[in-house]
Amino acid sequence: MNIDWLINPLLQQLNSGVILLNRQFQIAYINPYICRRADIKLEEVQGKELFSLFPDAPKAWLTRKLDSVLSLQSPAFSSWEQRQYLFKLPHLRPVSSTNQYMAQNCNMLPLTEPTTGEQFVCLLIEDATDAYVYQSQLQQSNFQLQQINRLDGLTGVLNRSYWQQQLEVEVQRAGRYRHPLSLLFFDLDKFKRLNDDYGHQAGDVVLKEVAKLIGSLLRETDLFGRYGGEEFAVTLPDTPLEGAIEVAKRICQRVAATAVEYQQQHLAISVSVGVSDFNSASSVNGANCGDTLIQQADLALYQAKRNGRNQVISYYPELIDSLKKVKP
Ligand code: GH3
Ligand code: MG
Ligand code: MG
Repeated sequence: MNIDWLINPLLQQLNSGVILLNRQFQIAYINPYICRRADIKLEEVQGKELFSLFPDAPKAWLTRKLDSVLSLQSPAFSSWEQRQYLFKLPHLRPVSSTNQYMAQNCNMLPLTEPTTGEQFVCLLIEDATDAYVYQSQLQQSNFQLQQINRLDGLTGVLNRSYWQQQLEVEVQRAGRYRHPLSLLFFDLDKFKRLNDDYGHQAGDVVLKEVAKLIGSLLRETDLFGRYGGEEFAVTLPDTPLEGAIEVAKRICQRVAATAVEYQQQHLAISVSVGVSDFNSASSVNGANCGDTLIQQADLALYQAKRNGRNQVISYYPELIDSLKKVKP
């Protein structure tokens, strides 16, 4: 039974693209779906080479693929996940969607004309823009979620768990490449009193402002996190102890010189800072010294508090003994 009466209307109505090519990749047929989107007429393009009609198509790759479809006489497939599109065609989604061109799945089928035996390859092009857009949105949401999971809700700096995770990465790197690495531990001075005097909301404003100020005084590569309530920590990669002390002093002075405005009041603030460095921590605990770095910076910070606050103290081994005498 001849089924041209079925095939012809189907090809007219089909909601996918059909391109039939001969062995020289000249166009034998293009269905209306492609004609409409590429704004071409079948009579005008018949016999033209595919790549003259679609000059942006990946010529070398597609030629190899089509050659192998013809020589092996077996179908091939190109997915939008592999190549977003082969042919620049507009899609039918609302203009608000960000991608300009139709994402495509493309089946490539080897066909033989039964009377002449001439070989063809038929490209079936399916619009995969919906899948592409949904996946892009999903990826974007996942990325945003990942970012949110890494940040402290109040101040926007890294949260403790992500900061600590990154400290381990930096410790490994410092050990492997013998690079210096330092750590700063900040604690706001007399913060409880500030909360008591001005209220918790004022305290929150101060935490945000201090975080902003400290962040502005750091390098892009420094890792700045909120370690606890009013405690912040900074990992300084490629920074030896002396450099870290300098940074800490600069921050300490700037914080003390800054009054935070809250409801027409100027709130005076200061921070105490403890500094530790990879050299002294790794001599105690080898390359796995992230915790030691934190402990040593914490001890130095404790000493800064004892010395009267609003100052920077760097760790030295005798600190442990001197603090044992005080701490029960
Ligand atoms: P020191 O100089 O010895 O550090 O004294 P301090 O008062 O800062 O230390 P303490 O640890 O006694 O108090 C810390 C205070 O920080 C207590 C807590 O109410 C406050 N705090 C912790 N997290 C937050 C927060 O997210 N927002 C506000 N407003 N306050 C917080
Ligand atoms: Mg504290
Ligand atoms: Mg404090």
